[in-house]
Amino acid sequence: MFAIYTRRIHGAAVERNRKLTELFVQAPKRSGSFFRYSCRIESARVGSKVLWFDVAEEFCDWVTPRADPFLVATLFQLMIEGEPVRVRGDVSASLLEPLHEYMTLWSSWRPGVCRPISISADELLEDHVAEGSDSLLLFSGGMDAQTTLQRHIRGEAGNRTRKIGACLYARGFMNGLEDTARYRAALENAKASVSAFGEGQIPLIPIVSNWQELHTRTMPDSIGTGLISFLHLFKSRFGRGMLSSSMSTKWDMRAYGSHPFSDPLLGHSSFQIECDDTASTRVDKALYLSDKPEVLDRLLVCHDFDDEAKNCGACEKCFRTAICFIAHGQDVPRSIPIDWRACEKKKIHLKTLRDDPEVCREVFLNTVQQNLKHPELAKFRRWYQIYLTKEAIKETLLVWGLRKGLSNDPSAPWAMSGTD
Ligand SMILES: [Zn+2]
Repeated sequence: MFAIYTRRIHGAAVERNRKLTELFVQAPKRSGSFFRYSCRIESARVGSKVLWFDVAEEFCDWVTPRADPFLVATLFQLMIEGEPVRVRGDVSASLLEPLHEYMTLWSSWRPGVCRPISISADELLEDHVAEGSDSLLLFSGGMDAQTTLQRHIRGEAGNRTRKIGACLYARGFMNGLEDTARYRAALENAKASVSAFGEGQIPLIPIVSNWQELHTRTMPDSIGTGLISFLHLFKSRFGRGMLSSSMSTKWDMRAYGSHPFSDPLLGHSSFQIECDDTASTRVDKALYLSDKPEVLDRLLVCHDFDDEAKNCGACEKCFRTAICFIAHGQDVPRSIPIDWRACEKKKIHLKTLRDDPEVCREVFLNTVQQNLKHPELAKFRRWYQIYLTKEAIKETLLVWGLRKGLSNDPSAPWAMSGTD
């Protein structure tokens, strides 16, 4: 199960007379019906921490014995600490170059915070060719993941259509680490979707990890390293890891933790990382799914879903998803019991305006260009106009030095509105 099957290239030299952060990969240990794969991180700045992934026994044959998942998982924190890193384990040699590119990209997005660091390992190994060339897809049951699954199952991703070999659902990532009824309901919903749409041929791999617990201070910038480390874990079996793009190249190219530019740099020649459907916005995805009622019935988009994995209809995510559908003249899916009045009372649209300029712009343009009459779109149009006007005033004050806060952070509000 844990065999090392490729030739060693060489062990890289350790930098001397400098502080080192070291990653000690531990032997897997059984924990009930799971195996725990772990790594102890020893840092002069942060101290000692243990990162772990729990994998159900039936999927353990697919887990790589290499340290690659742990290196990717901790990369963001490591580059913030800025010390050289030594991996006490085996690392795929070809992974180091794209990781350097990833760090260089983030050092341009977060100057003074992120910086490229040197990485060495006890053993650098040649690429391992996976058992299969099919893809492992991260799957939450949300709109992005459901869209990607449908695109590839239906062969609608053109020459980039992939065979989905399995889907992966993680506990401990944006959904709490505890084994709650809420988590189990969401997992069952994801399993049912994958099983139904994959005609029983696509397994869903459940994993549990304390990654987010260790990275609360670097979220959301570090989100890509966490998500993609889960995929790396199963690189013995799969030739490619895939995740749905949560932002589109059409409008919104802000720096973000999971990004079409940076995500692929966390993969390498024998395990590519693909960010799927980068050209589509959430509004486009709503249109794509709108004639697939069997998918809409299983859509789980909510921040506050209940113990039966039902959307609440009154959180920001439910609101944002609902306006994406009505912006095409479609009904809100019945799986989202949208309560417009509750959303307005909580002023949820303010968060949408602030956090998702891409959706806001496209909903606004659709409303104006198609002369859509839905009363909620009419309200949203006014809110958007007021928001943009306020942002333009703030930006003017900033550049004239009449307001503090001018920065070269590409995700700063004034920089975002500057692209409007
Ligand atoms: Zn909700």
